[in-house]
Amino acid sequence: MNIEQVGVVGAGQMGNGIAQVFAAAGFQVILCDVSAEALNRGMDTIRSSLARLEQKQKMSAAETGSTLARISTAESLDALSNVQLAVEAATESEILKDQILRDLDRVCPPRAILATNTSSISITRIAAATKRPEQVIGMHFMNPVPLMSLVEVIRALQTRDETYQQVEALCRTLGKVPVEVKDGPGFVANRILMPMINEAIYARFEGLADADGIDTVMKLGMNHPMGPLALADLIGLDTCLAVMEVLHRGFGDSKYRPCPLLRQMVDAGYLGRKSGRGFYEY
Ligand code: NAD
Repeated sequence: MNIEQVGVVGAGQMGNGIAQVFAAAGFQVILCDVSAEALNRGMDTIRSSLARLEQKQKMSAAETGSTLARISTAESLDALSNVQLAVEAATESEILKDQILRDLDRVCPPRAILATNTSSISITRIAAATKRPEQVIGMHFMNPVPLMSLVEVIRALQTRDETYQQVEALCRTLGKVPVEVKDGPGFVANRILMPMINEAIYARFEGLADADGIDTVMKLGMNHPMGPLALADLIGLDTCLAVMEVLHRGFGDSKYRPCPLLRQMVDAGYLGRKSGRGFYEY
């Protein structure tokens, strides 16, 4: 099956980035969100990201113009009735994702591939919510999507080889580097990254150092390009908490217990960059 039209569900920081890279690679993209405001914000983010790429001469004015022209928006999944691929990138909640996948299964053509950008939730369970589990797969892009080359490609237990191979080839068409990963809580990226971020939050919770001190230790001491608390703010603290909860439940091991400070900050609406306040102010 030739993929020409792609639906992206969720226009938040991941969804708009995913829409941008597909459109830049020549695909027609329909970006869907339940919130008109999120769609407007998402399109604004794409426009400024493309303008930056043009300024840095990584794309010509003609390319940024045609990339934008390939993206349309919709507030209903019904707009995805002709896509060959849908990539779900809505809020990290299993109930929500199951519902979206069921809706996509109903709306999208029978041969379409349904991918999810979940950070941690079982692809096998998400696939089981549909009537086409062999065409469901995880496509875990990294943030910010236009700049980060990795895509974890996660096979559900049910994923057919052909689906995997098509998605792997597609990642290369997007200029990304795919890594094949088996389904398991947090996959590889967040199995390793999120406990480190959670531990950094414990260090802050226990007052071992201030946020800048903790981040400086990891940047200068471990040569990380960004400290774990700044990275948590970039990812979104709600997403970090959701991933820790998946790891905690999935392994039943107390070492994955989300730090109480993380939970409290999410309760307070301090979600990081996207809300203007997290471990830092924006
Ligand atoms: P976000 O909060 O920026 O955006 C989520 C968007 O989903 C919002 O615009 C919201 O309106 C929309 N949404 C909610 N319900 C919807 C529905 N029923 N239909 C359509 N849209 C709906 O979140 P994000 O950071 O973009 O994360 C999205 C997904 O990507 C999550 O599964 C997350 O775990 C994953 N992810 C996030 C990162 C990261 O660094 N933030 C990295 C990789 C993967």
